[in-house]
Amino acid sequence: MRHLLTAEETQYHKDLVERVGVAWGTGAADWDRRGGLPADVVRWCADEGLFGAALPAEFGGGGATAVRTGLMYEALGRVSASLASLVNVHGMAAQTLAKWGTEQQWASVMPGLAAGKRVAAICMTESGAGSDLSAIETELSEREGRLVLNGTKVFITFGQLADTFLVLAQREGRSVTCLVDRDNPGLTTTSMGDVLGLRAAALARVELRDCVVPAEDVVGRDGFGLSILVPHALEHGRHAVAWMALGMLGSAFSAVLDFVHERRSFGRDLVDHGQIQSMLTRMGTDLEAAKLLCVAASRAVDDRAPDASARILTAKYFVCRVLEEHAAQAVQILGSRGVLEDGVAARHYRDAKILNIIEGTTQIIERMLAPIFLRTRSQGGL
Ligand SMILES: Cc1cc2nc3c(=O)[nH]c(=O)nc-3n(C[C@H](O)[C@H](O)[C@H](O)COP(=O)(O)OP(=O)(O)OC[C@H]3O[C@@H](n4cnc5c(N)ncnc54)[C@H](O)[C@@H]3O)c2cc1C
Repeated sequence: MRHLLTAEETQYHKDLVERVGVAWGTGAADWDRRGGLPADVVRWCADEGLFGAALPAEFGGGGATAVRTGLMYEALGRVSASLASLVNVHGMAAQTLAKWGTEQQWASVMPGLAAGKRVAAICMTESGAGSDLSAIETELSEREGRLVLNGTKVFITFGQLADTFLVLAQREGRSVTCLVDRDNPGLTTTSMGDVLGLRAAALARVELRDCVVPAEDVVGRDGFGLSILVPHALEHGRHAVAWMALGMLGSAFSAVLDFVHERRSFGRDLVDHGQIQSMLTRMGTDLEAAKLLCVAASRAVDDRAPDASARILTAKYFVCRVLEEHAAQAVQILGSRGVLEDGVAARHYRDAKILNIIEGTTQIIERMLAPIFLRTRSQGGL
């Protein structure tokens, strides 16, 4: 990737990969078994400045460029998609607040979020509304002069751990978002139980029963929730997921490359078999293409290019799709060792499936991208 990056970006990435690897390189299997991240991992992310890395400096953040932010997710994704997701969902909520919050919200909430002293989760999905968030039923209503929130959110990443929840609801049929604190007596979280992937992401069902929400905790105007705030949060999320998938793809490839030199069959190293070389070639080529798409997407964001959103969608779509394919191939090449629960290949294989569901499923992104390509073509841009 070096040829795509500046010397400073390369150095930042190299240093972070090393620090994450030294600190947590062997932790992921244990976290998956526990179904969550230990407190010292969360503290480490805070101490490293990862939670606030992408936030503007005026909020106490690191003001990282999109490329640098992407490199951070790549480095985390190599080790654990759950670890990367902790920083991602926090970032989705914090970035949205930084853009659409009020000065009062910035003063009260942002310092804690930027420093990672408080962890944020983002609550959109309900049992009856996932891809189609217009179907949400969680309601913010006025009762005796106070705003109260009622509903149930499901599959909330790090919902079991978060201190601050950014909740999508509807008020008189218009979408609205508001902040709810962990201490709110109406809020309870319970585990979603065992899951296929992102096992350490402490997924929660979040029950909101007569949660009193101060008017100053409503974020953005009524009607902005679905049209502006959710797309803003999802764009941050898709950018992050593309890059974490890139890290996982690189990690799976690396595990395979080690193995094909160590393992022998029918009197040869595995790497000398043509079919294995064919799989390696497809994996390596897609990895190179994935790097190009990720860097192009981030540079478009940094340049405020009009096609930045489309490039993020393209990167998320491509990298997650090839990751799913090659994580399966990595298990195949590793043979019986590939299926060991604690192994890198098995973990990436499980997590890859999830990355094709979150922040817009493969099908939803296809619905968004196809018209973009058609429009680009009609404008003579292909
Ligand atoms: C591990 C994990 C973590 C998550 N974390 C969070 C979180 O932190 N916060 C949060 O709010 N949510 C979270 N989610 C929920 C996630 O965003 C949703 O699962 C996702 O949006 C899809 O919604 P759904 O599962 O209800 O599927 P559905 O929307 O019911 O879709 C079911 C299937 O139908 C397809 N489909 C739906 N509509 C169409 C269409 N129009 N055309 C073609 N195909 C279609 C989908 O692609 C999918 O294959 C998480 C989910 C998982 C698995």
